[in-house]
Amino acid sequence: MKIMFNKQDLSLPSATDPTLRIRIEGLSAGYAGHPVLHQLSAHIVKLTNTALVGPNGSGKSTLLGVLAGVIQPTAGELEHAGGRPPAFVPQRGAVGDTLPLTVRQTVEMGRWGERGPWRRLTRHDRTAVDTALERLGIADLAARQLGELSGGQRQRALIAQGLAQESDLLLLDEPTTGLDPEARERIAALLTELVADGVTVVHATHDLDAARSADACLLLREGRLVSQGHPEQLLTPSALAHVWQPA
Ligand code: ADP
Repeated sequence: MKIMFNKQDLSLPSATDPTLRIRIEGLSAGYAGHPVLHQLSAHIVKLTNTALVGPNGSGKSTLLGVLAGVIQPTAGELEHAGGRPPAFVPQRGAVGDTLPLTVRQTVEMGRWGERGPWRRLTRHDRTAVDTALERLGIADLAARQLGELSGGQRQRALIAQGLAQESDLLLLDEPTTGLDPEARERIAALLTELVADGVTVVHATHDLDAARSADACLLLREGRLVSQGHPEQLLTPSALAHVWQPA
């Protein structure tokens, strides 16, 4: 197993391609006694919004976990060409809606990686939090409890927490799932805007509208990459029928 971060070796093909943010080669990963991803090779281009698309159980979250560094591959290579650790925005359901946290406190948690929960926030931390709240249009909700918000507002608070980490790579797990159509559209548009702001975005989704607004897609089925490319070319009725057909 070979995991490489910030690899400077110019002999590697990816190092000669400055547009790549992530290169994955022959990657396998999973959980104890449960292999999920099998021999997956793919790449993520810098400053794009890439959608990981596939049915439930196809391995999207597992792949995000590998990209985030929380799941270790069992084989293959993962190479990050970037300076900052990725920011990971988990599925909304994974975050207790009833936690007694305000929106600001939620976003401040994005700074814990830098500071630890026991340290006072610096001026820079507070600026990063304010900027993220403004960027997501939720500055006016800063004092509200997370549990009082709509699903779309709560999702924006979680994305703001990710942005507050000031990473160049934002990983999101199902950011539009469970939202009403308007909130889904807003989040999808926001991901495109974040790319324009200078962030590389990777999101897992089974929302095909969100996937269609991405710049690139990785289509997954049963832990394998079916294809990679532009959504218009990839998300054809026949490809989707193949991916979604029962095994
Ligand atoms: P997706 O995000 O596409 O729905 P996942 O990556 O969540 O797919 O899941 C892929 C497979 O891994 C599924 O069979 C799922 O049951 C299994 N799985 C997910 N999380 C765990 C875990 N923590 N422990 C064991 N198996 C898991």
